[in-house]
Amino acid sequence: MKLVFATGNRGKLREAREILEGYELLCPADLGITDELPETAMTLRENSLQKAEALYALCGLDCFADDSGLEVDALGGAPGAHAARFAVDVARRDGLPLPPDHDFDINIETLLKELSKHPGEPRTARFRSVVTLILGGRKYFFEGAMEGRIAMERSGSGGFGYDPVFIADDFPGCSVAELPEDVKNSISHRGKALRAMALWLQENQQK
Ligand code: IMP
Repeated sequence: MKLVFATGNRGKLREAREILEGYELLCPADLGITDELPETAMTLRENSLQKAEALYALCGLDCFADDSGLEVDALGGAPGAHAARFAVDVARRDGLPLPPDHDFDINIETLLKELSKHPGEPRTARFRSVVTLILGGRKYFFEGAMEGRIAMERSGSGGFGYDPVFIADDFPGCSVAELPEDVKNSISHRGKALRAMALWLQENQQK
């Protein structure tokens, strides 16, 4: 069975291929689709639905999209679905010049700075992921979360995004950026959501 994954991220595609073994997994570029998929909603569910619907409109094939975010308790759940542009949101709030979007270094720096304004508060946090699957035109949702806390400083060079400052409850001795890729995938929010989808597909014999 052919499935198109709405991503241009090679790491995510590799992870999804491992989990969805037995499926022919394509990405938009494999179909010559180069359009940027919209991601303008306020919630993970709406964003993943928006991306999946846009891809389905372009390719007409069974497909899925994910959207992930980071909730930090001491920051009232921020950055949430805005994780990729947290530094931009904070700069806008503070009336400062806007940094580039999707800059992981600046986002981490902003996160540590914002948390330093809450000394003594728990640094608990979680990544969440929502996957929208469009199968035969019908929509299905799958979710996953990875609980942990935000470290005081960065460590490790693996992974991406906030991994150097995220310490997962499952591996409290190091940051997620210090875990081998397959170990991260086994505990990650996205891995869990994708595995839930794979299980559902299996149980519904959609192979
Ligand atoms: P996306 O929707 O999966 O592209 O994720 C949005 C943003 O959340 C990314 O740009 C990262 O900043 C952050 N993020 C998502 N998943 C992860 C992860 O597994 N590790 C670290 N950061 C992540």
